Amino acid sequence: MKKYLRIALEVLLALLLVGACAFAYVNFAGKKALSSDMDEVSAELDETKDSLDKTKSQLEELQTKEEELEASAKQFDAIKQSFANGVLLQDVEALYKAQKTLSAERLVALGTVRQLTKGFEDPSAVESFQKSLEIAELGARMQAVCAAQNALVSAGKKITVLAECSSKEAMAGADKDEKAKSEANAHNVHWGYEGDNGPEHWGDNFPTCAKGKKQSPLNIAGPMDKSKDSIAPDYKQTALKLINNGHTIQVNVEPGTGSITINKETYDLVQFHFHRPSEEQIDGKNMAMTVHFVHKNKAGKLVVMGVLLNEGKENPVIKTLWANLPPKEGEEYAPDKMIINPANLLPSNLGFYEYEGSLTTPPCTEGVTFFILKTPMDISKAQLAKFPFKLNARPTQEINGRKILEN
Ligand SMILES: [Zn+2]
Repeated sequence: MKKYLRIALEVLLALLLVGACAFAYVNFAGKKALSSDMDEVSAELDETKDSLDKTKSQLEELQTKEEELEASAKQFDAIKQSFANGVLLQDVEALYKAQKTLSAERLVALGTVRQLTKGFEDPSAVESFQKSLEIAELGARMQAVCAAQNALVSAGKKITVLAECSSKEAMAGADKDEKAKSEANAHNVHWGYEGDNGPEHWGDNFPTCAKGKKQSPLNIAGPMDKSKDSIAPDYKQTALKLINNGHTIQVNVEPGTGSITINKETYDLVQFHFHRPSEEQIDGKNMAMTVHFVHKNKAGKLVVMGVLLNEGKENPVIKTLWANLPPKEGEEYAPDKMIINPANLLPSNLGFYEYEGSLTTPPCTEGVTFFILKTPMDISKAQLAKFPFKLNARPTQEINGRKILEN
């Protein structure tokens, strides 16, 4: 009997031991699970706190912006007020009077202020002003100002019409005296890119343009033979001198600061200028613009190297040029202490197409060798819009059996 009791007790003890172990294990595992849950929750809490902080700083930012906007709205109201009472016009006239020459942009601004101030009785004036500013093209903006000025004149308002508004296109609706003046101006315009002065009429005054058999530009398309020539441009930084010659923006280069060596012959860089769109076509397609680098050797032979410009990133050299556009047409402009390096307009790969051609502007003289670089450079959309000539590219010419080479 005693023996059975001992066995039973031992079994009971063993059972109790297993039970205690099982309880301890369950307890331990549970705690472990709970602590990882706790970690998760506290991480989430941290995240929520972060995003709360972010939202708070965004809110603060928005509040400052709103204050800024409110300030500009107030400023805009004040500007509108000073348009209406003529204070702004007096200020602008006084400011510009001190300057010898005014940039085209400033003339437009002045014309617009004059138009608005004199025309403030017309409630649509402010609206038309805003619309004219939305037009990106300077030429079109100028036309809007001229049209408004001329309309005010014919309505009997005594305003000073801008000299720029006396041109042929801007004359519609103006009086007879001004029409006569514009006809006199038209006689000075020998050639252009549109209408009666366009490329198809250049031959009337410049026979080579119509009769020449080696004219530029060309549509560059295969098949092509291999060129045996080598080109080595060597451009250094030079004091900036530019001119708006009525046909393009041209940068004149100081003698001795740039050259190109073709095989063993050296040609000095004389100037470079821009065409919009590109004059050359590649497989029938124009690029956004071209730069033509014009070189001359001692014998007077011309070599043009063309760099195509594709719409893309902002071009730092063009940024400098466009920021210093000449204030007046027909006069060389040398902004104080401005320096540029034309080398920065060249791609690193100088692979080219080569052909014998001509000047692409009257008198279309032949005997000019063209090297058009295959690798284009970038120009931004905004920079394209800022170029003062909407169209200044001669259409492509007949190839007349000429060979285009490439390397
Ligand atoms: Zn050119």
